[in-house]
Amino acid sequence: MRNSLKLDGPVKTYLDENELPKAWYNVRADMKKKPAPLLNPGTGKPVTFEDLQPVFCDELIKQELDNDTAYFEIPEDILTFYKMYRPSPLVRAYFLEQALGTPAHIYYKFEGNNTSGSHKLNSAIAQAYYAKKQGLKGVTTETGAGQWGTALSMSTAFFGLDCQVYMVKVSYEQKPFRREVMRTYGASVTPSPSMTTDIGKKINAEFPGTTGSLGCAISEAVEAAVKQPGYRYVLGSVLNQVLLHQSVIGLETKAALDKLGVKADLIIGCAGGGSNLGGLISPFVGEKLRGEADYDILAVEPASCPSFTRGKYAYD
Ligand SMILES: *Cc1c(COP(=O)(O)O)cnc(C)c1O
Repeated sequence: MRNSLKLDGPVKTYLDENELPKAWYNVRADMKKKPAPLLNPGTGKPVTFEDLQPVFCDELIKQELDNDTAYFEIPEDILTFYKMYRPSPLVRAYFLEQALGTPAHIYYKFEGNNTSGSHKLNSAIAQAYYAKKQGLKGVTTETGAGQWGTALSMSTAFFGLDCQVYMVKVSYEQKPFRREVMRTYGASVTPSPSMTTDIGKKINAEFPGTTGSLGCAISEAVEAAVKQPGYRYVLGSVLNQVLLHQSVIGLETKAALDKLGVKADLIIGCAGGGSNLGGLISPFVGEKLRGEADYDILAVEPASCPSFTRGKYAYD
């Protein structure tokens, strides 16, 4: 038997539906030193709206390049969609505290409680919305394990858009269920590298039998978007716009902690492309930047593919 556990507060804290954040928060607005700009690989100059227009949706480019607007109102249709699975619960990890024998109070924000299974839906639905609003036919994207592709397929199905997913070949073969979930939502799923794009053909010729990579799938998806009228490319992590949409995680977390009367000392997030981490910490970092509060922030990343703890900071 385990030692019994005494709860000294609620296990799950939910906001009410009407307490859902009405706007996303753009942490760049509060940064005195702005992040280095995206560069146009052709000119070496910071990218412009026009540079990005063939690739990305117009409204998303505006969000991408905006370093000054602190809050972007969440469109009504997205807010209504969010209500299917948001607010997500803030859970007190009582059993973990007990197992660690720590006096610390540990909370986690659970983003798995939606049909696609991850936080990716927060941005997927927003990106599909803006593509639809622009009158596009569809979008292209890449996916690795399939979380992003699944969230996007669900979102494009919701708005009646076509969705073309390039899935890293090794995952396509190892994770048939993910692949079929995307197809069930109506997406087309192509193992990458494929023979449907010039870059795919080139990579296949140079590296016969390769099982693919995320970079290769991205190249195929970008090429497919640029070559088909009425299509744009969308991406599930890394970009400023994705962090903006994911700020809904942090805004809810902060509101729930305020409701509990708890001030966090340390905020921890896992960092792959940085979207759930960035979304979680944004409002807290904002308070830090404005000198209103202080927090320690810890990013945890895989040792096998580090982007913060090793390597050099450079343009790719
Ligand atoms: C995609 C994904 C990640 C990594 O992406 P981030 O942009 O770093 O959030 C982490 N966890 C889950 C469940 C994911 O689907």
